[in-house]
Amino acid sequence: MRITIVGAGAMGSLFGGMLSRVAEVCLLDPWAEHIAAIRRDGLRIEEPSGDVVAALEAATDPSEVGPTDLAIIFVKSHRTQWASEMAARFLKPAGLALTLQNGIGNRDVIARVLGEHRAWQGTTAHGATLLGPGHVRHAGSGLTHVENKPGLEEQIQEIASLFGQVGIETHVSPDVDSLLWGKLVINVGINALTALLRVRNGVLSEAEGPRALMERAVEEAVQVAHAKGVTLPYADPRQRVREVAVATGANLSSMLQDVLRGSPTEIDVINGVIVRQGRQLGVPVPVNESLTALVKAVEETYALRSE
Ligand code: NAD
Repeated sequence: MRITIVGAGAMGSLFGGMLSRVAEVCLLDPWAEHIAAIRRDGLRIEEPSGDVVAALEAATDPSEVGPTDLAIIFVKSHRTQWASEMAARFLKPAGLALTLQNGIGNRDVIARVLGEHRAWQGTTAHGATLLGPGHVRHAGSGLTHVENKPGLEEQIQEIASLFGQVGIETHVSPDVDSLLWGKLVINVGINALTALLRVRNGVLSEAEGPRALMERAVEEAVQVAHAKGVTLPYADPRQRVREVAVATGANLSSMLQDVLRGSPTEIDVINGVIVRQGRQLGVPVPVNESLTALVKAVEETYALRSE
């Protein structure tokens, strides 16, 4: 099977490196220094058990990518349209484009470009951090869940088994929306607030004001999920978000990292989803409206910051 990873940041590099043991894998990414390092020295993956080096193809130019059975979209959400257009150039007519990105809405962007029949989504509990060009840390492991696509059960099972062979334990879920929304609700509580306050995740569980805001943002997201008929995969969302903030207390959230780098954030597919869907469904979402507007204002003024 030929797999192309579109977006070889932390997660794309990790998945590509792991999958290169059982498939022909190519990483496609515009970051020339990273791609050059992988072509020259291989991809170094820092695992808890020690470093491994994966030899795999890597390209900045989509014309170098061969016909692909599976494209895994691992760009940040503002580049999903671009990634889908890239995949359109090499994905086989019966190939699949899988998004394991965070947030809600990436699958729809992929479907508009590549067609419903080729758009596929899931969610993963693996985590990764880029340490430099050609060098990634496998920061956390957990289950990966993908949705079923009627008529494609065999193809999907084959891919899930392939993932499993390299330690990416993958289950085909009958209700992937529940899992995606479960992760979304937690990200709604943690990402925007840590980015705005510039604090590590743990602070949100410790400081009274931030904790109250986190819980209100989560409660709004829960109301939107319920109005959509989504069942969340945990009983008490407020307790869950506090637990995650404690368990990941030392981490800088991905949105905070984006803000510190002056990069576009994924606000539109996280708190922005609650705002759009809340308005459509008539659910009041004032905290998420404010958080979304504030993060967008931060993005808009990156060049004007006084340090
Ligand atoms: P990332 O920030 O590592 O990479 C995103 C893009 O930025 C890539 O194209 C990468 O090449 C580029 N980039 C990164 N550092 C650069 C540098 N120094 N110079 C130039 N370009 C650079 O993205 P990610 O964390 O892999 O996230 C991809 C998707 O996966 C997102 O939707 C994210 O929410 C999701 N996700 C991430 C994790 C995680 O642990 N990182 C876990 C689950 C889901």
